[in-house]
Amino acid sequence: MKKVLIANRGEIALRAVRACNALGIRSVAVFAAPDAASPHVWAASEAVCIGPAPSSQSYLNVDALLHVACATGCDAIYPGYGFLAENADFAERCAAEGLIFIGPEAQTIRLMGDKAAARATAIKFGVPVVRGSDGVVDDPTQVEHLLDDMGFPVLIKASAGGGGRGMRIARSRSEFAALFSQASREAQQAFGDASVYLERFISNVRHIEVQVFGDGKGQAVHVGERDCTVQRRHQKLLEEAPSPILTATERAHIQDSALRLAAGVNYRGAGTVEFIFDADTREYFFIEMNTRIQVEHPVSEMLTGADLVAEQFRIACGEALSVGPPPADCGHAIEFRINAESFRHDFRPSPGRITTWEPPRGPGIRVDGFVATGSTVQPYYDSMLAKLIVHGTDRAHALSRARAALAAFKVEGIDTTIDLHRALVHDPDFAASRIHTKWVEERFLPQVFEGEK
Ligand code: ADP
Ligand code: ADP
Ligand code: MG
Repeated sequence: MKKVLIANRGEIALRAVRACNALGIRSVAVFAAPDAASPHVWAASEAVCIGPAPSSQSYLNVDALLHVACATGCDAIYPGYGFLAENADFAERCAAEGLIFIGPEAQTIRLMGDKAAARATAIKFGVPVVRGSDGVVDDPTQVEHLLDDMGFPVLIKASAGGGGRGMRIARSRSEFAALFSQASREAQQAFGDASVYLERFISNVRHIEVQVFGDGKGQAVHVGERDCTVQRRHQKLLEEAPSPILTATERAHIQDSALRLAAGVNYRGAGTVEFIFDADTREYFFIEMNTRIQVEHPVSEMLTGADLVAEQFRIACGEALSVGPPPADCGHAIEFRINAESFRHDFRPSPGRITTWEPPRGPGIRVDGFVATGSTVQPYYDSMLAKLIVHGTDRAHALSRARAALAAFKVEGIDTTIDLHRALVHDPDFAASRIHTKWVEERFLPQVFEGEK
């Protein structure tokens, strides 16, 4: 592999350029017109404008991306996360053009991308799933027996879902039909696919996921788990590792399940197997597999010292797996997503010009971002600007470093979620990790707003 086209923008595009540099590979950035001044453009070896602002005409424009890749002499394409990262047709088109798609095989993306079907695959390899429908539910009047069997609340989920969209919790039979059509409509709009399936909604759960790598020949390794329980509307706000609440035995079982699934499907490249963990019964259940690198991969990098993006490139070149689980004394890492959003105004986007951007520095502190003083935050794309990752010898140490780092992080001109994180790291329930996936919405935010009155 000599030259890679990076089919993405923002922090992950810049992160990919760094991985290319580390491996001595040349990089070609692509950008939509409003991103011309973005750092991934000048950091890459070459850069090509592929279209106007709308993603459909730029970062999702498959013909333009393949044309640029071929015209610049690339031999591979790196998809990052979001955009085309989980698009099996794109992976196939790359292969048809003789380009290496840096990710799993198209058929694996397809197998796991249909979340209803992925449940069946998990069951096949002995991985526990939440009680729910066998595949997609076409007719909501045909599931009476299943609803009796599962009991309420029931979670209606988009089969093509991602980013927490297309999900509805039905608390009783009377509201089921209406919420079913809502979820289905939202899924059609967001993903162009109205298919939905059902799962028992379990309250008081934590989100625990395992980062895996496979060589595509049946070998798979894990690089530990991450705890992403701090969420709002099913979207992660911060991630940490190791999970503060798992026993060694529980951890081993979850990691084992993830490996069985990855090895079972001959998984190639980086992937994440996501679970919910019922804090009352201590049971865990598979919810989905993301067939790409994730936003929160640096948490695992802090614990293992590995470059997980470079590992993706190496696997795509056919090399053997070179990463593994974190060592026993790996300490603790926490990642905070810094989004251009006003959390006091229902997290509405806050685009505009950044007049001051002064990220914190110091031991155990890493900031992965793509903006600087003078940058303009575009309204067209995902609102994430940067990720602050802190590492300490244990969770208390990481938290104390996080408090200092967040206090020193100075951003002016736009609203960001830094304020939210400042409040979070001083919350006693978060410090003791007495939380669940609805805790931010049900407990934390109401308390913050009450305290500010
Ligand atoms: P991850 O599991 O990698 O942390 P998420 O589950 O948060 O990512 O989101 C899944 C995908 O959806 C990501 O690739 C991300 O780019 C995209 N995404 C996340 N949040 C948003 C958002 N608010 N709007 C649009 N896309 C989003
Ligand atoms: P997405 O593809 O949008 O990431 P997921 O299936 O990963 O969707 O679910 C997103 C989040 O919703 C999970 O992290 C978890 O917090 C919550 N969730 C998903 N399934 C369940 C369930 N059956 N019971 C309770 N919470 C769930
Ligand atoms: Mg998910």
